[in-house]
Parts: sequence; C-alpha cells; structure tokens
Amino acid sequence: MAGTLWAPWRMDYILGKDPRPEGCVFCLPKDHLGPLPERLVLYSDRQALIIMNRYPYNNAHLMVAPRRHLGTLLEATPEERLAMVNLAAWATEVLDGAQKPDGYNMGINQGQVAGAGITDHLHLHVTPRYNGDTNYMTVIGETRVIPEHIVATYEKLLGFFS
Ligand SMILES: [Zn+2]
Repeated sequence: MAGTLWAPWRMDYILGKDPRPEGCVFCLPKDHLGPLPERLVLYSDRQALIIMNRYPYNNAHLMVAPRRHLGTLLEATPEERLAMVNLAAWATEVLDGAQKPDGYNMGINQGQVAGAGITDHLHLHVTPRYNGDTNYMTVIGETRVIPEHIVATYEKLLGFFS
C-alpha cells in the first residue's frame, strides 16, 4: 500500500533524478570545520561529521561519517570509530531536545547487499523513531511520511549543534 505525501526529494530519488552533487556527499573540503549548510552538514571536526540524510527514512534522519573516504569500519582508525560513536551520542542528545522522538534506530549498512546507498564512504545512521511511524521499514517505492521539509529541519537543528 503506497502513500504519497510531502517528500519531493525522495520522489526524485525514486524516479532516478538524483540531485546529489558530483563526488562523494560525505567528503568535505579538506580544511573545512563546522557546519556546511549547502551540503546539509550540521557539524564537522577533524575526525568525523554529522550530516542530514537527503533521502530520509524518517524526519530528522541524521548520518555520522568519518572525514576520511573509507568504506568499512575495519578501515577506520580507533580514533575515527570513537569519534563516530561520540557524535552519534551527541546527535541523540540534540534530537532529544529538538525533535523529542520516542526512540532511535542506529546502525551501519556496509555493502550494497546490506542496503547501503553509498558503499564507498562509511556512515552510521541515526534515525529518530516516533510512536506511530509504522511505515518506517517499508521498501523503496512506498513513499514515507516526512512531515517537515528537510531544509526547515536542518535550520532548526543547526542551532542546537552550534
Ligand atoms: Zn567520501
């Protein structure tokens, strides 16, 4: 049963009109630190970054990635792994305040078979869950309900990350 609501970015993705910029979405300019609004980056330091998912499974779906372009947790250094988990924890603290979700799904899809949309740059999903969002795990082709536009959500969250 498919539902189509306000999720135009997701529909573009499903229809193959991928608006992602050229190159890797997780790789930032070399010396850039802090947020990067045009890329929906909420925070970055020398080890890792927090970025909004342009194709969210749920409202305020964030991702944490290492700064280095690497594909697996095994390739990451202990410092990078620690930075990712610490940023994921901070992301939940921010989302608790900003979005008041009822829970989270957090995890890594490593490899295409595991569901990774981008396979060559490791990323950890931080997906808030809300009571009643029962269509969360539906497959591609069924549009999910995303009640807030992603840019509005970005602007709202940015204040909490500064
Ligand atoms: Zn990359």
